[in-house]
Amino acid sequence: MLSESTKSSRISEDEMNKVLAKAEKEAEKKDHKKQWIERMIKSAKTYYKLCPYYDKKSSKCFLTLGDKCTREGRYENCPIFIGYLDQKYNEIIQKKKMLPMDFLDLAQMI
Ligand code: SF4
Repeated sequence: MLSESTKSSRISEDEMNKVLAKAEKEAEKKDHKKQWIERMIKSAKTYYKLCPYYDKKSSKCFLTLGDKCTREGRYENCPIFIGYLDQKYNEIIQKKKMLPMDFLDLAQMI
């Protein structure tokens, strides 16, 4: 006979499948988000050579509410820019709205 603690630490096949399905769904979501972020960066690059949130005169970043941009407006791999898109993705999904496919449409949503 198994003790209570041994019983409760066992995971049934059903539960295991549920956990796996959930992990798979999470991975899919992450992938979708990543793809969308890449698409937005690509789209932004067709409009902006330098970061749209970069103030050339003062070298400040609008997204950080005035911190200096240390990248001189090169936003392709900027963690702040990517973090911003990540946050926008979450907001849009949460509101069950359509994800824009063009960076300018995203900028208009805000
Ligand atoms: S820190 Fe990043 S998001 Fe901010 S202005 Fe510079 S490149 Fe743009």
